[in-house]
Amino acid sequence: MTREPGSSNGVVLGSVLTCPHCGHAKHEDMPVDACQFFYECERCKTVLRPKPGDCCVFCSFGSVKCPPIQARGQCCGDDLHALPAARASST
Ligand SMILES: [Zn+2]
Repeated sequence: MTREPGSSNGVVLGSVLTCPHCGHAKHEDMPVDACQFFYECERCKTVLRPKPGDCCVFCSFGSVKCPPIQARGQCCGDDLHALPAARASST
């Protein structure tokens, strides 16, 4: 286990996001108390969204799961998990 400067309580607050479209990887800091649903790849400008069952882009594309998952094994809001897919066909 590598210990990064931004870590606290054993929770890693930095994750390397890898774009599934162009393979571009970039280290990003993760918010401790919120989930990030969208992330725009700085190279190909593709907006990444979490995969079904994942709470945020870090869980889907990051090298490290988001802080709530690391700390508790689950995310801040279970309700959030159903939102992206459920809203997709509403229009
Ligand atoms: Zn990309």
